[in-house]
Amino acid sequence: MTFVKFNPNKTTLLERGAEAPNEELQKSYDESTYAWQPGMQMPCGTPNKLRITKSSLGNYGWCPYAYKMNHIYKLKQEENEDMVRGTNVHNIVEYFWDAVRDVKDDAVELLEKGEKRQAKNLLYSVIPKPPQPYLLGEEEVINQWFEWQWNRFVITEGVDWMATGNEVSAHAKLDVEVDGEVYPVHLRGFIDTIFPDGDGGSILMELKTGKWTNRKAKSMREEMQFYKLMLEEGGYVKYLPVTHWAWEFPRGWANGGTKAEWELEDTSVRKTSYAPKTVMNNIKKLVKAHITDSFEPTPKQWRGKDGETGSNCHYCSYMDICPAWSADELEE
Ligand code: SF4
Repeated sequence: MTFVKFNPNKTTLLERGAEAPNEELQKSYDESTYAWQPGMQMPCGTPNKLRITKSSLGNYGWCPYAYKMNHIYKLKQEENEDMVRGTNVHNIVEYFWDAVRDVKDDAVELLEKGEKRQAKNLLYSVIPKPPQPYLLGEEEVINQWFEWQWNRFVITEGVDWMATGNEVSAHAKLDVEVDGEVYPVHLRGFIDTIFPDGDGGSILMELKTGKWTNRKAKSMREEMQFYKLMLEEGGYVKYLPVTHWAWEFPRGWANGGTKAEWELEDTSVRKTSYAPKTVMNNIKKLVKAHITDSFEPTPKQWRGKDGETGSNCHYCSYMDICPAWSADELEE
C-alpha cells in the first residue's frame, strides 16, 4: 500500500542527530550502543555502555526477543499504517508549536474582543495540509488534538498556553547496580511537548495515536517517568522541577479503545509514586539481559473488550524467524 507521508518541519528527528546539551553527555552518547555486551570497548579502548531509550525499554518489556531483533540485530520492522499515521500526526503537532508563535498574540487579542471563532480559525490556520489528502484518518486525529489545544487556549486566555519544549532531545548518564556491580548506561529520547505549569515547574506531555483504555495509565506513567528521569539526571534545569505529566490519545476510540482521552497527573501524589522504582527495575532487567545474553521469545495473550483474543505476536514483524513459532504454526 502507498502511504501519504507529510513532514512540514525542516528536519526529521533522525536528521537532527544527537543534540547533546554538553560535551560530557555527547561523549557518553558516543560511547553508548544498543548492542552492548560486558567488556565491550571502543577502538580507543574506552569502555562502551548500553544505550536505552523509552522505546527500547518498552520494546524489551513487550518481548525480549523482538527487542533483540530490533535493537541489537537492527532488523527493520515492516512499516505499518499505525506507524505512518503516528508519524504524520506527530509531525503536525511539532510544526504547530513552532508556527503558532507567530499568530498567538493576535489570537489572544481576538479572544479578548469576543471574536472567538476568528481566534480559533487563526490558530487552526497554521496547520498545513499535505499536497495529497491523508489516507489513514490523520485529519480527524489532528482535529481532535487541535480542539483540546483550543479548549486550553480559551481557559488559559493564552497565558502559559505555549509549549516551552517541542520534541525536546534529552540525554542522561546513569549508573545502574546489577548483582553488586555498577554499570554505566546512557538514556536518550525525545519528549513530545513540555508545558509550563504556571508555577515555575513543567508538565511533560506525550501524544499517542493508538487506542485508549484505563489500563494504559500504568504503562503511561512508566513512560513519563523515563522522561522525568532523563531531565533530572541530564541536568535540564530549564524544565525542572517536573510537577506533572500528561498524555493525550486523540484516536483513543480506535481498535476497541474507550474514547479520545487526555489525562493530567501530579507527579507527587501516591498513585504515581511507584513509577520511579518500577522504571529503575525495568532498566536493571534490561542491563541484566545484556549481561547474560538472555532475550527469550515471550508471546503474550490478552482478551479484549469485545471478547477477542489479542497477542503481541500479531503485531510483530519477526514471527517468521521467531523460535516461538514453528513453520507449521506459521502456515496455519
Ligand atoms: S513473534 Fe511473538 S514471541 Fe516472537 S518475537 Fe514477536 S512478539 Fe516475541
